[in-house]
Amino acid sequence: MLNITERNKILAEKILSLKEEKDALILAHNYQAEEVQLIADYVGDSFGLSQQAAKAKEQVIVFCGVHFMAESAYILAPDKTVLLPDKNAGCPLADTITEVSLQAAKEKYPGAAVVCYVNSSASVKAISDVCCTSSNAMQVINGIDAQQILFVPDKNLAHWVQQHTTKEIIPWEGACVTHQRVYPEHIKKVRELYPAAPIAVHPECEPEIVAMADFVGSTTAIINFAKTCPEKEVIIGTEMGVITKLQHEVSHKNFYLLSQGLICPNMKKTNLQNICAALESLEPKITVPEPIRAKAYLALEKMLSYK
Ligand code: SF4
Repeated sequence: MLNITERNKILAEKILSLKEEKDALILAHNYQAEEVQLIADYVGDSFGLSQQAAKAKEQVIVFCGVHFMAESAYILAPDKTVLLPDKNAGCPLADTITEVSLQAAKEKYPGAAVVCYVNSSASVKAISDVCCTSSNAMQVINGIDAQQILFVPDKNLAHWVQQHTTKEIIPWEGACVTHQRVYPEHIKKVRELYPAAPIAVHPECEPEIVAMADFVGSTTAIINFAKTCPEKEVIIGTEMGVITKLQHEVSHKNFYLLSQGLICPNMKKTNLQNICAALESLEPKITVPEPIRAKAYLALEKMLSYK
């Protein structure tokens, strides 16, 4: 019986060979497990992954993330085969809004522009004016020609954005179950354990957590902060995959997870076995019906022009 390291090594070699054979690019979100990050061609946040998908030269994109991310890759690169290794890797935040419920909100606020966080389905993006990620939300809000903005679907990101603009932000009632598992007690505990360590959190955390933190930003912003701050210990208040990435890139610092609840089960559904199987079978494919894709493309393309 092989131990896990030997088995992973064999699987990783098989994936690299299949990648060549199938002309595939492997994209992985920062929240993916270590074994996945290590075999990926690119590891990044939603914005960076969208950029990589849009300019991919390979015929196949293996998206190691969740469903809405693979959809976005297909929306931007419809001539590619986009694979999601586990088709059940969804996002509870994205599931809080549908085309029907957004349409009703648009009718309630006819003068509002719709800014849609990328953590949403293709059909929701298709009836939005522009998409955003947590790394470019402020540029999008400041750039859009509207004073009233219906910001969907993350209420905590909407609250954070509202703190930095005079425009009226109308939030949706959605939230990320993973980032909601951070409580003030976690902040108090790490302050006691690591008094010199700054606390960096994602704006998907609750407003009271954001208010208690030393730094707030997207996963990429948190990574850059953790790398460049003078402190040798940093508390990370986003999904634990970010610590994996930091530990590989910054060996002279220590990173601690703010809450043990910061593990997204959907992000952890991808593993070397299902990546290998996806490359062998070229399944499960993610596609979007063309009329929806064409409209969603406009919202995503507009977002990509903001940075
Ligand atoms: Fe969705 Fe939150 Fe998981 Fe991201 S971390 S995929 S927003 S549930």
